[in-house]
Amino acid sequence: MLTIKLPQIFRVHQVPRIFWEDGIISGYRHPKSSALDCILSSFQMTNETVNIWTHFLPTWYFVWRFLVLSSSLDFCRDAYNWPFLVYMLLVCLYPFTSSCAHTFSTMSTHARHICYFFDYGALSLYSLGCAFTYGAYAMPDRWVNSTLHHYFVPMAAFNSFICTSLSCYSRFPELECPRLSKVLRTTAFVYPFVYDNIPLFYRLLFCFGDGCTWNDATAGYFYHLFFALLTGFLFASHLPERLAPGRFDYIGHSHQLFHICAVVGTHFQLEAVLSDVRSRQAWLSTRAPAPAFSATFGTVSLALLGNLLIIGGFTVALLRWPGGSSILQSTVPEAGRPKEQ
Ligand SMILES: [Zn+2]
Repeated sequence: MLTIKLPQIFRVHQVPRIFWEDGIISGYRHPKSSALDCILSSFQMTNETVNIWTHFLPTWYFVWRFLVLSSSLDFCRDAYNWPFLVYMLLVCLYPFTSSCAHTFSTMSTHARHICYFFDYGALSLYSLGCAFTYGAYAMPDRWVNSTLHHYFVPMAAFNSFICTSLSCYSRFPELECPRLSKVLRTTAFVYPFVYDNIPLFYRLLFCFGDGCTWNDATAGYFYHLFFALLTGFLFASHLPERLAPGRFDYIGHSHQLFHICAVVGTHFQLEAVLSDVRSRQAWLSTRAPAPAFSATFGTVSLALLGNLLIIGGFTVALLRWPGGSSILQSTVPEAGRPKEQ
């Protein structure tokens, strides 16, 4: 009879320090797992299992939403829907990349960093997707055709380069300066979030009376912002595991909650944007030019290529960096509490 032996699980001080997670004491996979062991480990309880599934299953939810919407929205010939098409593709990409990163991050120390380089790149591209969709459908009435409106997406594409670079770089000082690393990484995610949401902040918080759009999308945007703020708080605080190390190793730690809040926030965002896409089409098409093919797909292709080049550059730097002996440390370190992140 065929039997499958599940990979062994380790405690925090049995794995290299670069694998330590703040407040997580047990459930670590082998730091040099094979690809097969990584896949098998997603079916056993480790401290990464819920992280993997909380982004793998939503990937297919978003793919399903995309396929259903394809039957009602013309993504091929109607230029009005192109920014939404870009957004949907990037909404499907980021949880899938994250799920893969969490699955294969224990193949080696190199693999761990490279997996998360891709994770950060996909998140930056998702931010660009948000800018595409807000620029096309969520701009406050008064800002349509303004200078900000014209440069909103190109600036967001530029931001994606900055943010992927910053978040990838943040892995280098992770052991020596964990607080600097955390600040850099948090900034890399907060900055594009704030930039992308400028139209929403204005529309929801500062715009009243004539020329302001209050429609069915408004409540969805509020829910999205609430979950986005919760996501940021969980990412930065490492609660609840920081208060009770070891208690939430398998279920309930901040990264799992962070994944769930991110996905729920994206769901509300998707529904709100969809509401704007449908309800504002007639109004927007008389006031703003239809999205151009080259501007839409050229920008996203350039952003994709640029982000891949940045990830490639950081991968080469990782392999060649003389200080790599510290971030690629593979020996069991001295006893102590897990690193601050
Ligand atoms: Zn994650």
